[in-house]
Amino acid sequence: MNTTDTCPACKSNSIKRTIEINDMPVYCNVLWDSHAQSMAVNKGAIHLGYCRDCGHVYNMAFDEALMDYTEDYENSLHFSPKFNEYADALAQRLVDKYNVNERQIVEIGCGKGDFLKILCDRGNNKGHGFDKSYDPVRSNEPIPHNITFYQEFFSDTHSYLDPDLICCRHVLEHIEDPLAFLVNLRNIIGDSDPVVYFEVPNVLFTLKDMGIWDLIYEHCGYFSESSLVNAFQSAGFEINAVGESFGGQFLYVEAKPAKEGSKNVSQLHYDLGEIDQYVNAFEINYNDRVVHWSTAIENSLTAGHQAVVWGAGSKGVTFLNVINPRDTIHYVVDLNPHKCEKYVPGTGQQVKSPEFLAKHKPDKIIIMNPIYEKEITTLVRSMGIDAEIECVVSNCSA
Ligand SMILES: [Zn+2]
Repeated sequence: MNTTDTCPACKSNSIKRTIEINDMPVYCNVLWDSHAQSMAVNKGAIHLGYCRDCGHVYNMAFDEALMDYTEDYENSLHFSPKFNEYADALAQRLVDKYNVNERQIVEIGCGKGDFLKILCDRGNNKGHGFDKSYDPVRSNEPIPHNITFYQEFFSDTHSYLDPDLICCRHVLEHIEDPLAFLVNLRNIIGDSDPVVYFEVPNVLFTLKDMGIWDLIYEHCGYFSESSLVNAFQSAGFEINAVGESFGGQFLYVEAKPAKEGSKNVSQLHYDLGEIDQYVNAFEINYNDRVVHWSTAIENSLTAGHQAVVWGAGSKGVTFLNVINPRDTIHYVVDLNPHKCEKYVPGTGQQVKSPEFLAKHKPDKIIIMNPIYEKEITTLVRSMGIDAEIECVVSNCSA
């Protein structure tokens, strides 16, 4: 197995090795049509390294050769009202702040195009969505006249589009060499002057809340505000704004191409003391959390209780693969109808819609993401289900 001692975000060699998780499914977001398929998936190792120079966390054992995104990649979050509310507000904020009206928008890694559609509707804009995993057959809705989808990577052959806004959400953490990706984007932009909006998961949220369930093989990089800003500045961008969103779970950066010879750009620098502490605590606590949940699930089996996991996204798949409760948890609930009746990679639980709970009558529902707790509790209680609801994150308070 190859491991890399060079930080992919800043190229430093000052790397501290932290936790190791072996035998993780290479795709956490691909669910399978049969139990047999789900148990036969490719697996890879997660060996986390922490860059002492820029505060970046990454998988030192990541092997890009195992990855090939296809149309089966199902990571749309747009089935949750809470997420839709967030996406609506974000689109409106970008349109207002940067006056994105009747403009050209490029979205890199647009998925099924849900966010691009909102951006285009809000500002009467023209959208160009790039994604190798875009599936023209999936959507029953006709493609809007103002959006073009490209089932390919955004490259210099597309610079003629001359976008006013370039969006890229939840892509950078999948790229083995994010710095090279940003340098390439800067080169494609050339002398144009678009606003560039990037969003990634926030590593501080993962570390702070003991979110070991946020670690997935597809994510080779985990950005901190420091490593994100540093990478953008190194690649030739000026930072307009940077911050946390979605209850601290995401980090965003709004940037512009830095112009050559511009001397007045203020460079942001960070004190890494806080993140150092979180990385150390994360390593110490990791095994404790695994033991805690393994024991809790074992006890619920002994008590004859039926437990289900709520959330067949990456957190749920990681939780199940790390804890591996094969004989105690048989079902995972998810709102996304495209996931229902499929099977979880590596551990083989079947995904069911919430309606299934009325029949199954679980004693316990384990929620993977605290931000959806209210939404899930309201739905479950309205169905007359009085199961105990517990969140895997210790400070579940959303
Ligand atoms: Zn670094």
